[in-house]
Amino acid sequence: MTTILSTWKEPGEVAIRAAWKKRDTGGGLVDALEAGLAAAELDPNLIMIGLGSLPNAEGDLELDASIMRGSDYLCGAVCAVRNIVPVISLARKVMEDTPHVMIAGEQARRYAIEQGFEPRQTLTGEVIARWEEWRESPERIKVYEHTHSDTVTMLGLSEGKMVAASSTSGLPFKQPGRVGDSPIFGAGIYADDEVGSAGATGNGEELWKAVASFRAVEFMRQGMSPQVACERVIEHMIRRQPRAQELPCVVFAMSRDGEIGAATTKDQFDLWICQDGEFEMKTFVA
Ligand code: ASP
Repeated sequence: MTTILSTWKEPGEVAIRAAWKKRDTGGGLVDALEAGLAAAELDPNLIMIGLGSLPNAEGDLELDASIMRGSDYLCGAVCAVRNIVPVISLARKVMEDTPHVMIAGEQARRYAIEQGFEPRQTLTGEVIARWEEWRESPERIKVYEHTHSDTVTMLGLSEGKMVAASSTSGLPFKQPGRVGDSPIFGAGIYADDEVGSAGATGNGEELWKAVASFRAVEFMRQGMSPQVACERVIEHMIRRQPRAQELPCVVFAMSRDGEIGAATTKDQFDLWICQDGEFEMKTFVA
């Protein structure tokens, strides 16, 4: 049995279907999650991750991605990368072909080019127009901060093996160079085959401060179900991080035996679940 999870209704569906297709045609879990996130990144109509997602305050798109294997904690990430897609494939290269965990910014772009990635224009007319509109009235960032999700985070499980991965354009119109939780192990993703895996999406500053994914996995290690573990993470955030109550922060988790849970500080959260080719979307409400 293979179980794959993917965040958010629209990009989550693109990602999970591509991931399952890869898995179903013989790909491993790392291949499947990479294929899923790459499909969502390369779809210019999804204004969420990769090509055609919302840029930073100066109108440049800076992307982050991460991938982690639960069997041995092998992991790789890139952050603040410009003009390269899919960044999840670059994160995988860091994981498999370097002794490092993360490569950042301009050096990540240079590393990508050395590895054969073609630099390309990642902005579309649509997102340039949205950025120009935002620049005319920056108070609009409040609307985006509260309503827009810019990350797809995925978890995969097969025969006791787990992989977690994430790709994001970060918060819309962020300060140049800003990096959130998604490429940070323990914050945006975490996987440990002894216990389970977890991922996050929402306000990256609050999720990082909470080390949300690691905390969820460690709660599961203590014997909590994934649902209770995620609720405890969110309760802890609300108690200790007042800002987390105002901004959507989501954590979701899967135990090594395939049980699933999720919780959010506010509003609602859609999670796609694929079990051996059967797809379903579940909504979790704060
Ligand atoms: N967590 C991402 C970040 O803060 C944003 C998101 O999940 O939408 O970079």
